[in-house]
Amino acid sequence: MTSTIAKNLFLVKKTIPNHVTLVAVSKTKPEKDILEAYQAGQRIFGENKVQEMVSKHQNLPKDIQWHMIGHLQRNKIKYMAPFVQLIHGVDSYKKLVEINKQAIKHNRTINCLLQAKIAQEETKFGLSFEEINSILNNADLSELKNIKITGLMGMASFTDNTTQIKEEFCSLKTFFDTLKSSVRLNNVNFTTLSMGMSGDYSIAISCGSNLVRIGSAIFGNRNYSVK
Ligand SMILES: *Cc1c(COP(=O)(O)O)cnc(C)c1O
Repeated sequence: MTSTIAKNLFLVKKTIPNHVTLVAVSKTKPEKDILEAYQAGQRIFGENKVQEMVSKHQNLPKDIQWHMIGHLQRNKIKYMAPFVQLIHGVDSYKKLVEINKQAIKHNRTINCLLQAKIAQEETKFGLSFEEINSILNNADLSELKNIKITGLMGMASFTDNTTQIKEEFCSLKTFFDTLKSSVRLNNVNFTTLSMGMSGDYSIAISCGSNLVRIGSAIFGNRNYSVK
């Protein structure tokens, strides 16, 4: 019998065009749920807590690609540096320096996205477009040879107002395109625009997202009171 998770995954994938990559957001979910999605073919999973991602990485198949999608704490970067595939939430130059330092120790290049703040809400993390410009114009950035900035990540406001959500996503796409055609550095290569979650990924894709982070539509609602 096909599991609910496999069915949900199939239904979600039907609504996503081929050029869009799906990150299955498995935060708070047990390893058996991840294995169900894995057995249905999914290989990219997203987590927002470093310790949780490290232990899942240890216990689960090694061809899983792990994405860190949560707010990044500088002192925890070292724990995921051996294996993390993409860090979505980079929000300062200092964190890029630390990611580079930890990547060197493992003789790796770590892919990073700069997180832009596009939502109106105070609670959301991220950089203004000016701050992103200043990171990309930092004269020392090209010295960070063990990182690669592969694009941007953004979260829209939590609202029913689809016009507003669309404006927020599309503003990030416009900014992404500008940077893609103007920044010329060895360790910057704008290929990835990470936008869209269970509730808004269709809007994000219509604005040009090519990487969506989908959790509850695949794994069901999260229960934060039990771990
Ligand atoms: C939890 C989370 C998601 C997935 O949210 P769903 O609404 O469950 O799809 C996507 N992106 C980030 C940054 C998250 O923290």
